[in-house]
Parts: sequence; C-alpha cells; structure tokens
Amino acid sequence: MINTIPGALFLIENQHTNKECFRSTHKTTTFSELKENSLKAADGLLSLGIKSNDRVALLSKDRIENYELFFACAIAHAVLTPINWRLQPEEIAYIIEDCTAKIVFIEKDLFPAIVDVMNKLSQIEKIIVIGDKSNTLISTENYLHYEEWSQAVQTPSHNIQPFYEKEGAEQITRNYTTTDAVVQMYTSGTTGRPKGVVLAHYTFFDLLNTMKTEGDNWMGLNSHDSLLLSLPIFHIGGLWWAIQGFLAGAESCLMAFFNAPEAIKIIEQHTITKVALVPAMIQFILSEPNATPDKLRSVNGVLYGASPITPELLTKAKNLFNASFFQIYGMTETGNMAVCLRPEDHNLPHHPYISAAGRALPGVSIKVLDPTGNPLPPGKTGEIVIHSPSRMLGYWHNPEATDETLRDGWVYTGDAGYLDQDGYLYVCDRIKDMIIYAGENIYPAEIESVLADHPAVKECAIIGKPDNRWGEIVTAFIVLNDNTALKKRDVVTFLSGKIADFKIPKAIEYIDQLPRNASGKILKKNLRARYWQDKERQVN
Ligand code: ATP
Ligand code: MG
Repeated sequence: MINTIPGALFLIENQHTNKECFRSTHKTTTFSELKENSLKAADGLLSLGIKSNDRVALLSKDRIENYELFFACAIAHAVLTPINWRLQPEEIAYIIEDCTAKIVFIEKDLFPAIVDVMNKLSQIEKIIVIGDKSNTLISTENYLHYEEWSQAVQTPSHNIQPFYEKEGAEQITRNYTTTDAVVQMYTSGTTGRPKGVVLAHYTFFDLLNTMKTEGDNWMGLNSHDSLLLSLPIFHIGGLWWAIQGFLAGAESCLMAFFNAPEAIKIIEQHTITKVALVPAMIQFILSEPNATPDKLRSVNGVLYGASPITPELLTKAKNLFNASFFQIYGMTETGNMAVCLRPEDHNLPHHPYISAAGRALPGVSIKVLDPTGNPLPPGKTGEIVIHSPSRMLGYWHNPEATDETLRDGWVYTGDAGYLDQDGYLYVCDRIKDMIIYAGENIYPAEIESVLADHPAVKECAIIGKPDNRWGEIVTAFIVLNDNTALKKRDVVTFLSGKIADFKIPKAIEYIDQLPRNASGKILKKNLRARYWQDKERQVN
C-alpha cells in the first residue's frame, strides 16, 4: 500500500502517464508532466538551501503549480504551508512568521497588496513569484520568477530527477516515512487566531487504505472520474480532495477560487462527475438562475461538509443534483474527514432541525464526554472526541495547545454533539458558541436552522449577548431577503411551538450580510465583539 506522497507520485504516474491530471484555465498537465515538474521544483527547493522539515509558504489562488509544489516539498522533505490569500496582509504575515518560512511562493496578482508587510519580515530569504512572466514586478535578487526558478539547472548534488531516473521509484521512495510531516495547515480561524496543524503523509492515505482492505469503496473515485476542485488548497478539505482525485487517477478541474456561475460552467463543459462543496457554496449554486438539474446532470457524487447544513438546504440540493450525497464531518486536526453520512443514510429520520453528520469511518472511534471527561450515553450532548488514524502530529510550536487538544491520540474537537443508539453523530454546535441562559445550555445552530426557514430570512446567526440578570440572552442577527420586512413579534410567533420558549431570541439586529471567512463559516467572534468587552469570551 502506498503511504507517502512521493511514493504515490511515482506509482500513480506510472499507471496513468499521459492521461490528464489537472486542468485549469491557464493550462493542463498530465500525470507525467506533473511528476517531471515536481521533481524539477524539488531540485529547485534544494538549490535554495531547503533543509528537511523547513516550512515553505505558499500564497496563491488555486493553480497547477500549487500541486507541483506540494509534491516537490514532499520530495525535498520540506513542509508546504499554504496560506489563505483572503486574509489581511497582517494576518498573512502572522502565519509566515509563525511557520518560520524562509522561502515564500506568491502568486503575482496577490503580490502588490502584500509587498510592504513582506519587506518587514527579515526571515524571508527568497520570494518566488508564480504567474504571468511579462511585466514582472520586481527584479531585486530576493525575487525570482517560478519558471526561471524551476527550470534553472541545479548543482549535481541536488539533482533529484537524474537520481530518480537512474535509481527508480522504489529506491527513492525508501527515503520517506509515512509519519513525517508533509503539510502545515492553518485552521480556519473561526474561533480565534488560526493554528498551525502539522499533518503527516499518512493523513492522505490511512482512512482510504483501511476502507479498501474492508472492501468499502466509499465514493468510488476512479480514473474515469472528473473532479471539480472548488475548495481552496489552504484548507485540508481542498488539498485532501485534490489528492484523493490524484490517487484515483482521475482528472481534476481547478477553479482559481469558487464562484457559482463558473462552477456550473465547468461542470457542464468538462462533464464533472464528483464535486466537493461547503454548504455556503451549495447555497450560492442554488441561487443561480441557470442552475438546473439538466446542466448538472453529469455529477454523480456530491461531497459536502465543513459547517452545519440545514435539512431544507440539503433537500434543495438533492433536487438539483441527481447524485449520491456524502456528508463529512471532521476538522483540520483530525486530518479532514472522520465521520461520514453515506447516501443510504440520507433517508434516515433525523432530528427535526439538525441532520446527522454520519457514522465513524473504518478505523475511527468517537466518544461524547461530559465536562469532567466521563463518557455520556447515547442521546446526551457533550464534547465530541475523535480517535482517527489520520490525526495531526500536533500544533506547530504550541505544546500547550497540542496537549489540550490531542490527549492519548484522541482529538478533543471543541464541538458539542451526541451519538444515537446506532452510532450516528449529531453535531449541535461549537462549545464556544453555546449560550448559557439562566443556566440552560442553548446551541445556536438549532435556532438558526428553524429561523432560516422563514421566507423573509436570507440568513441568520445567533449569539449570546451579556446580560446581568440572565447571564446571556439569545440575540439574532438577521439578513432579510430583498423587499421583505420582519418584526420582532413575527419572529417570536414563527418560532413559538417550534423550539422551546427559552430559546426564542430576546433581541434582534438586522444587518446587510453576515461576516464569514474563506470557508464560508460565520465569524461569530466578530458579531460578539460589539457586546463582549471581555477579551476571553470575544476571541476564544
Ligand atoms: P478554528 O479552529 O481556527 O476556530 P475551524 O474550527 O473553523 O477554525 P476547521 O478545522 O477548518 O477550522 O473546521 C473544523 C470545524 O468545522 C469543526 O470543528 C466543526 O465545528 C465544523 N464542521 C466540520 N464539518 C462539519 C459538519 N459536517 N457539520 C457541522 N460542522 C462541521
Ligand atoms: Mg477548530
């Protein structure tokens, strides 16, 4: 069984050579070209003085070079750190500093906005600019263009490519260990500062290998598939999905970044068979007038997850895509998916307002613990704790946080949920978002899910507002659909009888849009910031 990234590159290339692997608006690349370019790039990294375990930062929208760099870093025993390009320059600088990268790859278009903060980071030795070579912006010795860099012939001692050709795949793959770090992913930063999660080669293989040995072919990815890569590479979900497509020998169509009309166009033009989307993307696709079942008919598998989905949105999605639906639940720290709701499970009778996130995948175990760490019986809500063979090695340079989250191999998710009698997991909400009103625990996701059904409500978010008498009071932020109105008493009437009285919002604010991060997750910390002076509650 393959269990390292370079091992996979050599083996999969051997099977699929001249078949197309990645396709973007700029270019396409075959499996063989991908291997060649990755080997060249690995040579390039070594000639820049990259050492084992060094972090290599990448700031780029999705493009083929990103994958070459992922493989190149793995070959050179370095650790790729892809960064969310939608972050503010200071936030990007924070991550580059935190990961201690000396070499940074930046897409040309993103460069102007970031150049000032980059110049202040003395740790950076080389910046390599990816993108159109004409009008290259800067020509000091600190900057190189990607093509010049990856094509420059390296000193013989660094020459991986001839070595590979001479020694062959087997010899070279012996130099890699599945438990070595291969990528450092920063969490979405939904609850606080993004944390650097160090993931090993095995994160990309173990679960699927275990499933294969059990005869479970999961989504059935194969070399006839065409994948849509619409999730960003800087979150584990995006990179993991792309690598699963690669391992299956499938062709993958990249989007520089997600937008619904473009996604629909690519699906139709390239007869995409499998898509991976977050609920916010599904919502955007649904609101496109030309999103019809006919245009999307080539899709036979839809993977979704990363944030809660309302049963209503799921139903609409199932009416649009005539496909098998797979929900996944997991987090960066569990190395992506740990729990999966399979197509046949989608017809289960579910909790009225939240759908099950699924059951543990083969090799994964789930516990639900009370605040003192004791396991809770089915039906009781507590912290979800996961043991997965794909879990992180730890947080980068943060042993306290690692000890807190990773205990005896179990990942403490910070999510609240419960298991039913049959082992289906229901994710209620993040523990940090829980509202305590007069001693009652309230999970905002339930209220949001019911309120979102109101025809005037476009989207909504619920937080707790500090209150001297009650501790916190339930506060709704509502974005209304165009030309609609909604009074507080309409909200109360609508929710009465659907949820317990104590959960009905006591305060309502109308806003134009909800603050979200690049994964489409609502940034409740920003909504809370107005009310909570107390930094602890605000940031954490
Ligand atoms: P940070 O840790 O920086 O606050 P984050 O937790 O949003 O950010 P990720 O690791 O990208 O960063 O996201 C994992 C979280 O996403 C989970 O802990 C969970 O709250 C949520 N999530 C993932 N999948 C699902 C799902 N299927 N249903 C509900 N929530 C989900
Ligand atoms: Mg998290």
